[in-house]
Amino acid sequence: MFDHRIYNFSAGPSMLPEAVLKQCAEEMLNYNGSGMSVMEMSHRSKVYDEIINQAEALFREVMQIPDNYKVLFLQGGASLQFAMVPMNLLRTGKADYVVSGSFSGKAYDEAQKFSENIHLAATTKPLKFSRVPTQDELDLTPDADYVHICFNNTIYGTKWHYIPETGNVPLVGDLSSCILSEPIDVSKFGLIYAGAQKNIAPAGLTVVIIREDLAGFTLPGTPTMMDYAVQIKNGSMYNTPPCYPIYVCKLVLEWIKSLGGLEAMKAINQKKAAMLYDVLDSSKLFKAVADPVDRSMMNVTFRTGDEDLDAKFVKESIAAGFSNLKGHRSVGGMRASIYNAMPVEGVEKLAAFMRQFEKDNL
Ligand SMILES: *Cc1c(COP(=O)(O)O)cnc(C)c1O
Repeated sequence: MFDHRIYNFSAGPSMLPEAVLKQCAEEMLNYNGSGMSVMEMSHRSKVYDEIINQAEALFREVMQIPDNYKVLFLQGGASLQFAMVPMNLLRTGKADYVVSGSFSGKAYDEAQKFSENIHLAATTKPLKFSRVPTQDELDLTPDADYVHICFNNTIYGTKWHYIPETGNVPLVGDLSSCILSEPIDVSKFGLIYAGAQKNIAPAGLTVVIIREDLAGFTLPGTPTMMDYAVQIKNGSMYNTPPCYPIYVCKLVLEWIKSLGGLEAMKAINQKKAAMLYDVLDSSKLFKAVADPVDRSMMNVTFRTGDEDLDAKFVKESIAAGFSNLKGHRSVGGMRASIYNAMPVEGVEKLAAFMRQFEKDNL
């Protein structure tokens, strides 16, 4: 039992900025003089219309999204995009997938339900996903409908430090665990998608940023709800959108703006990640899991090499007021997810805790 907020290193759903949570609380019973909570509003009302329009305008401003891209607020999580992407973007049936971790593997598997010509352009599975492929390692199909990558590998703690060159073939990026963590050149992608529960908002919202010329070519049998063109035409309101997460998304974007935008966000995130990697690189007890060239700024994976000691670390970390430091069940070890909302102070305290644990256990 805690009588205060703790440092939650969960990979997702994860922490939200305290200022945002406080504003949600203040506006919970009566949003902006409407006499009701945002949770209770008609999505067709004037007051809600303003919320969703502002959320979109802020997304465009903060990420500097070019005018020929649409921003969609959908449901179904990133996992539904594993199917929606092939259902909407496959025209010739050919697509390239780069498998650099667990989620990109799931996306690759899902795409194969829709075509027999889904090509594995590269995988770092033999390296236990300790890094992502280099440009030279990508075996790309020149006339593919798209190339799919996962930009930050949440479970293994790696990220792409470059945007692959794919010529005229649209690049599709799963940015679920790194969107809004730093500036990114949206024009290098045909489509970006992200589940909200890591860096955007509570679970229930999926953001899709799509170059408008890519929509409108669905495979036969595609459900109406899964057609990007339908969602574009209806301004993400073909049916009831995830109203409350969209509102929180608006508040999170305002919070990022108040800090100075994505350049400032990146500087803070770099500082946090460096604190933990410094501990790992100077440690005789802990080892970083990811290859230094492709280390994630959002998910820091590490282990001691001794499963019992890992378990002891996790147990003691909980008693010390940190939560969710246990690594993903598929890889073991530890993982500290340090998304935008994790305060610098939380990472400083974790770094100190790690140093002390090393002293006590070496
Ligand atoms: C969390 C995550 C997913 C899965 O997201 P859901 O919204 O739960 O479907 C997919 N890809 C990446 C990179 C993730 O981090």
